[in-house]
Amino acid sequence: MSETLLQHALGLKCQEIMTAEYGKQRIDVHIRTKAQYLTCAECGSKNVLKKGYTERCFLTAPIGSKTVHLIAQIQRLECRDCGLIRQEHIGYADPKKSYTHFLEEYMDDLLETISVAAVASRLGMSWNTVKGIQTRNEKTGKAKRNPE
Ligand SMILES: [Zn+2]
Repeated sequence: MSETLLQHALGLKCQEIMTAEYGKQRIDVHIRTKAQYLTCAECGSKNVLKKGYTERCFLTAPIGSKTVHLIAQIQRLECRDCGLIRQEHIGYADPKKSYTHFLEEYMDDLLETISVAAVASRLGMSWNTVKGIQTRNEKTGKAKRNPE
């Protein structure tokens, strides 16, 4: 997949796809940050060494009727400038969340016309999660729609 298509279809920047698995109802896309975009989460230096990684799974916006999961390698980086070891900062999801900003935007669009329950069912998420995101976005002024 070209970088431009990747950016537009999945809302990802600075990432590369290592592989993808295509199931009947879901697509798993294995990604990692391109080496040239790895920076120290503490001081922003690019002078970093990879020190292993952990894998995290994020639900993102679907492609057609298929759910899409990003299986992301999150690098552990040692900074040669400040000396600290930190996980890389990722731009496409909030810390501790298992879904992407891209999915939140998609949800916001859906919630303009259909209910929380319908969105939850369509995206394979719990009602509580969708409602939680809607409430949070309303508080932060992201949402444009009327409450359910
Ligand atoms: Zn640093």
